[in-house]
Amino acid sequence: MGIDTLSKDDPRLFRMGDAYAFVTYPTAGAVITREGAVLIDGPMAPAVALRWRNFVREHAEIRYHVICEHHEDHTACGSVIEADLLVTSEVTALEMSSTSARSDEQMRRTLRGWGRNCDFDDALVAGYRIRRPNLTYCNRLSFDLGGKRFVIFEAPGHTRGSSIVHAVDDRVAFVADNVFPGTCAPPAQSANPWAWLQTLGTLEALDVDWYVPGHGDPMTRDCIGDQRSALLELIDRVRDLRRKGWSREQVVAEGLGERRLRPRHSGSDDTPQALPLVAELIARNSLGNIYDYLDEHPSGHPFARRDPCVDYDSEIEEC
Ligand SMILES: [Zn+2]
Repeated sequence: MGIDTLSKDDPRLFRMGDAYAFVTYPTAGAVITREGAVLIDGPMAPAVALRWRNFVREHAEIRYHVICEHHEDHTACGSVIEADLLVTSEVTALEMSSTSARSDEQMRRTLRGWGRNCDFDDALVAGYRIRRPNLTYCNRLSFDLGGKRFVIFEAPGHTRGSSIVHAVDDRVAFVADNVFPGTCAPPAQSANPWAWLQTLGTLEALDVDWYVPGHGDPMTRDCIGDQRSALLELIDRVRDLRRKGWSREQVVAEGLGERRLRPRHSGSDDTPQALPLVAELIARNSLGNIYDYLDEHPSGHPFARRDPCVDYDSEIEEC
């Protein structure tokens, strides 16, 4: 039996210079250089992640693998891809150790629950082990590999620890879930909505031809305006209800109501069957999270942590 890999004609593969997007669940990215490859996120399903890893290895050794956020659909592939360096932001590394899939057994449960098809083959899931990042960064991490420049930067938004990978010389930004295609309400259950709006501004300023989202085909810059409108619409909805005196519980219970469907993309058929089962809960949690952020000023919140009031004067006067 030959090695299980992807066909180069697979309709889910997009090539942008020496960069690839493999549009599955979620979209995986790769940039090939003469000294090795840089991978970004990767398929959640272990069998698909293996096929993707084997495909990339036909071109280059996998040196860096950047995971852009702590949600399990993005992190599950870390141990399957087996890169030399598994990179996340420090915040994402911390979130990974406290989320629902923080242990091997919990991640196996997540994979079994989400998968329910042959790409989540139980022979692979049974032996599944989580891999922790072995390189973390704050703010920015930039490096050269095989004559190509890479800038990875923290871009809080969809999650508080989200990363963007800018492949400078191939003119591609891998933006993960900071940009969802279309104008549907973006999943904001782990989001910092104020930082998200600022991150979108930074993304628009990048000198790139392509933005590769976490769930969809590669896009051009116009998609960012759609994402901003959709996020503002979500924030305005919660603001209006809160202004009318609704409690957090009422807003969460109300939910989003009828939702617009996301546009189909070349990897739509790979979406795990369990996603629709939790989509409503994700939407409700997103509303609750935005509700909480309305207590903070969009310019930042310097008073989130304050010194406790200690009465030093009484202490002195008693001496
Ligand atoms: Zn996510």
